[in-house]
Formats: sequence, structure tokens, C-alpha cells
Amino acid sequence: MTNLVLFGPPGAGKGTQADILKEKYQLIHISTGDVFRNNIKNKTELGLNAKSYMDKGQLVPDEVTIKMLNAEVDKNEGAKGFIFDGFPRTAAQADALAELLKLKNTEVTAMIALEVDDEILVDRLLERGKTSGRKDDADESVIRNRIKVYYNETAVLKEYYKKQDKYYGVDGVGSIEEITQRLSAVIDKLQA
Ligand code: AMP
Repeated sequence: MTNLVLFGPPGAGKGTQADILKEKYQLIHISTGDVFRNNIKNKTELGLNAKSYMDKGQLVPDEVTIKMLNAEVDKNEGAKGFIFDGFPRTAAQADALAELLKLKNTEVTAMIALEVDDEILVDRLLERGKTSGRKDDADESVIRNRIKVYYNETAVLKEYYKKQDKYYGVDGVGSIEEITQRLSAVIDKLQA
């Protein structure tokens, strides 16, 4: 299996690239943010629980997020592999992912990070907010909080996967096609 953690701050382009890469490599794309947003739309208990955190740009608690992620992975028995987008975001989530994949006799193949400067991120997210309908993209203070949360809580995962020799950084500035090419070069090497 090829199990990729697509990593990077909010607005780095993870969702856009995951949509392309899932087709190219026949992988299941799991975006925890998308799953939460669908649950909010359908007014489920999970959605109600997640909404207050998301609206403020804070992380949904690990316990809730990990349970949801496990269920999403279990829905896709027989998959060739996964692209995890927006997960893990904490060390506890990374540990839980390792455990889950171990039960399936597999592991995280690599973390591939899209590297983009903060000011570019804020501009991209404000631009996306004009059409995405996402409340957390519409307010600059919420955007800045999400970037702060990324550095305070999530960025440590770079070291987590570096220690396992699984970290690959990719320049996330350029055209969508250019960035897909850079990511594909890494994935092709991993699969060679
Ligand atoms: P995203 O679509 O990845 O930008 O996520 C949007 C929001 O969903 C985040 O700001 C968090 O509130 C929540 N969220 C998504 N994934 C996670 C996660 N792995 N852990 C905690 N909260 C998450």
C-alpha cells in the first residue's frame, strides 16, 4: 500500500493536489476537514460537536477526530492506499494512525509537505473565502489563528516523520501543474 500524509499549513494546496493525485495513483483521499464539513451540513452529532472548534480555527479534540478517521479508513477495505489530507495534526493523531495502519499490516509510506510562506497563505485563503462558502476562510483573524495553530500544534509532526526518515518537503509555490509534478516525482520514487 502507498499511504501518504499530505502536509502543510492551511492554504498550502493540499486539497487541490490530493484531488489530482488520488486519480493519478488510484488512492483513497481522506480529508478530515471535508468529513467534518459534510457532517455539519447534514447536522449530525459529530458535525455539531466539531462546528464550534472549526468556526474559531481551533482543532477538533483528538478523541473525536481519531474515532472519525478510523471509521473512514475502515469504510475502504481493499484500498491500494490512502492520501491523508489534514490528518494527522497532532502527535497523538500520528500515533493513532500508526496503530491503525499496523492493524492492517501497513504503515505511513511518507509525509509530503507543501512549503508556502505565511503571507501567501493568508492571501490565498482570503481569495478562496470569496467562493468556498467556508466561514473559517472569510475572516482574517480566524485564518491567522489557523496558521498559528498549525505552527504551535501541527508543525512538530515534521520532526516526528523526519525521525522515521519519511519526510519530504516540496515547494508549494507555482502553478497547480508544476506542484503536481513535484509531488509526483516524490511519489514515483517511493513506488519505484
Ligand atoms: P481543513 O479543511 O483541513 O483546513 O480543516 C478545517 C478545520 O477542521 C480545522 O481548522 C479544524 O478545526 C478541523 N480539523 C480538520 N482536520 C482536523 C484534525 N486532523 N484534527 C483536528 N481538527 C481538524
